[in-house]
Amino acid sequence: KNYTRLDVLKDAKENNVRYIRLQFTDMLGTVKNVEIPFGNLEKALANEIMFDGSSVQGFVRIDEADMYLYPDLSTWLILEWESTPSGKVARLICDVYTTEHLPYQGDPRYILKRNLEEMKKLGYDKFNIGVEPEFFLFKLDDNNRPTLEFSDLGGYFDLAPIDGSEDVRRDIVLEMEKMGFQMEVSHHEVAFGQHEINFHFDNALEACDNIQTFKILVKNVARRHGYHATFMPKPIQGINGSGMHTNCSISDAEGNNLFYDPNTENQLSNTALCFIGGVMKHAQSFALVTNPTVNSYKRLVPGYEAPCYISWSDANRSTMIRIPATRGNSTRIEVRSVDPSANPYLAMSGILAAGLDGIKNQIDSILPVKKNLFKLTETERKKSGIKNLPESLYEAINLFSESSLMKESIGEELYFKLIEAKTREWDDYKSKISAWELEKYLPII
Ligand code: GLU
Ligand code: MG
Ligand code: MG
Repeated sequence: KNYTRLDVLKDAKENNVRYIRLQFTDMLGTVKNVEIPFGNLEKALANEIMFDGSSVQGFVRIDEADMYLYPDLSTWLILEWESTPSGKVARLICDVYTTEHLPYQGDPRYILKRNLEEMKKLGYDKFNIGVEPEFFLFKLDDNNRPTLEFSDLGGYFDLAPIDGSEDVRRDIVLEMEKMGFQMEVSHHEVAFGQHEINFHFDNALEACDNIQTFKILVKNVARRHGYHATFMPKPIQGINGSGMHTNCSISDAEGNNLFYDPNTENQLSNTALCFIGGVMKHAQSFALVTNPTVNSYKRLVPGYEAPCYISWSDANRSTMIRIPATRGNSTRIEVRSVDPSANPYLAMSGILAAGLDGIKNQIDSILPVKKNLFKLTETERKKSGIKNLPESLYEAINLFSESSLMKESIGEELYFKLIEAKTREWDDYKSKISAWELEKYLPII
């Protein structure tokens, strides 16, 4: 909604809002917030609240630590689930500005806005995003620490009483509706304790704000029911991991979906085909932003409904890009590699830049693959020109580092910081001795 400063103040007063959380997202996708009492709201709305950027991942260096928070008024939201008897809590999502009052180039939200501007230069209006985040619910131990014990032993689309976490899911949906989210579906996923909740698609920026809100809410509601919710891509080996399938389309100012063309064989427009071509061409380069953790690559292995090969199909779920059957204004492509550990602002920036590059350069997407890719041999795949997604964080860092498109899309400020932070993460991981190694080698070597 288009709130003015006065609207926000009035709404806060009328609803007895006592505290306001000023939120933003750091490089790694974590939501940060500075809480202010109602008395400081006017100051916040005048963009006068400062914070120390040097203690935030990926933000400025010590010598230029001060940063300003500019609240985006359209994100004003009362957090019903946090409200206390003494009054309510609300949030405003903020853009990060420097002391010179310029947008901070390393603010992920700004980075996405910049990519959306690039899109507008090509005459498009909206990058529509609908996500399908999956997550696990685990029991808490006596000290309220997460265990690896499933919340329930249900499976795909199961009903109560097998699906014991139905109440949690229902509560999440209820809370989200209270906050004005348009919910689509919620169901038990394939694995024990695994769930999926989808909400209505939105323009990319709002969609990313929503993802961030959703994650906090899921964790909060789960806690209330005595569970720990995790968006870790592959918490348990041997069973399905959690993805965040990302449905995308582009529309014009009149709201026409530009991926739809009733006059072609599969009713996909040339724009859609080139967008797919770009996404496939750069899939290896943007993996670092769509799958940013060591754990992400434990999910991208054959056999668990997660993709490992770069290809597209109009039905097959083993491919990285699937085209859901709906057409008309709901025509979209589903990017299935993305996982919920991603910083959504950076992930969507990477995908958009790749797709736009495909459109600008009229990159042909190779023929769709109708076969089950997991059943092809490596030679058969290579013959059809099908490449692999990176197999480790290390490979993803290298491929990202070699991409000038990613440098442009993410912007030098965060591009290099991300490479540095992820390299540190990899270095830390690679020196650890795993249980697998001990089991395999200790008894025999
Ligand atoms: N959990 C699967 C994944 O890791 C996806 C299952 C589905 O098709 O929704 O991507
Ligand atoms: Mg799913
Ligand atoms: Mg899906």
